[in-house]
Amino acid sequence: CGIVGVLGEHEVAPILVEALKRLEYRGYDSAGIATIENGQLDRRRAVGKLVNLSDLLVHDPLAGKAGIGHTRWATHGAPNVANAHPHRAGRVAVVHNGIIENYRELRSDLAAKGIGHETDTDTETVALLADHFLGQGHDPISAARATIARLEGAYALCFLFDGEPDLLVAARKGSPLAIGHGTGEMYVGSDAIALAPMTDRVTYLEEGDMAVVTRSSLLITDENGAPVSREVRTIEIDS
Ligand code: GLU
Repeated sequence: CGIVGVLGEHEVAPILVEALKRLEYRGYDSAGIATIENGQLDRRRAVGKLVNLSDLLVHDPLAGKAGIGHTRWATHGAPNVANAHPHRAGRVAVVHNGIIENYRELRSDLAAKGIGHETDTDTETVALLADHFLGQGHDPISAARATIARLEGAYALCFLFDGEPDLLVAARKGSPLAIGHGTGEMYVGSDAIALAPMTDRVTYLEEGDMAVVTRSSLLITDENGAPVSREVRTIEIDS
């Protein structure tokens, strides 16, 4: 339901939770974050209000300067911890808004390759596909691109990869997504409201766009994979 991503200069867990709080008005049933610390992905998820996630993080903190976060409004699979985002498969963590319409077909393709699911969600399929492409020798950006090419339905996605503390890959089709520009930091948000405390400079992705985000660069390609330029707007939102 809500997505945030941060490539920061400081610890991102509290920043991610604050950004998710600004998306609470949209409603949600569970929430979670994933970060990279020493090159390794890790995640925390909790059912119910964001305070449950915050409490969990007090007892079981998550370090790292790169991360993604999600508030979930379940469409596929009960609102429990296992089905909460970020979803993880091998070297990939992903957050997703929307519905992957062809996830059953993708699930059985993966099953035929001996790759099984651990959750009931359409989103886990995205993580498994991307990890599968990594296993076939794709680099993270090309694995994300190959994954997105297989998806039907509506989605905003943000990927984080093991061993890649300076990379977020985001994609939009049927669900809004904005990239925020900071100073030495970059952000991703399903709503610019989430990013308002960090920046007022935002680039909105258009339908079919994929964004490759690092702390010092933003490269956007359209649905044909061609590089495109999207304007940076200065927005006015009370932070
Ligand atoms: N379809 C996904 C799920 O049920 C994402 C739902 C959402 O947009 O929060 O987990």
